[in-house]
This record gives sequence, structure tokens and C-alpha cells, in this order.
Amino acid sequence: MANAFSYACRDCEGMAACPASVVAETKDEVWKLMELHAQVAHNENPADWDGETRAYLATLIKPVNV
Ligand SMILES: [Zn+2]
Repeated sequence: MANAFSYACRDCEGMAACPASVVAETKDEVWKLMELHAQVAHNENPADWDGETRAYLATLIKPVNV
């Protein structure tokens, strides 16, 4: 049974070359780590992510068993 959530940056359109992924207990924590990764690795400002972008990213967060 899944007890955590993961996000792999390479699953995101245009990010196929990025090796980063994050795993955390809650989706909220995964979002924080995604936002931090986007800032550090891709020089993005998560405050600029619109609802459509967030809805797309949300589909990339998968339940996993760690
Ligand atoms: Zn990345």
C-alpha cells in the first residue's frame, strides 16, 4: 500500500533531461520540494505557476510505497 508520494521532474513536459525526483509523506511536502527544485534547478518562480500548470503538475505526483 502506498505510504508516500513522489514526483519525477523528467515526467514533466520539456524536463526529460532532468534527473531530479522527490519523495515525501504528504502531497503538501512534495509540492514544497517541487517548488524548491524548480527554483534551484530551473530558475523558475513557482509564484508564476498558473492553475493550469499546477493542475498538470498535480497529475505527475504519484502514490508510492517506500
Ligand atoms: Zn528538474
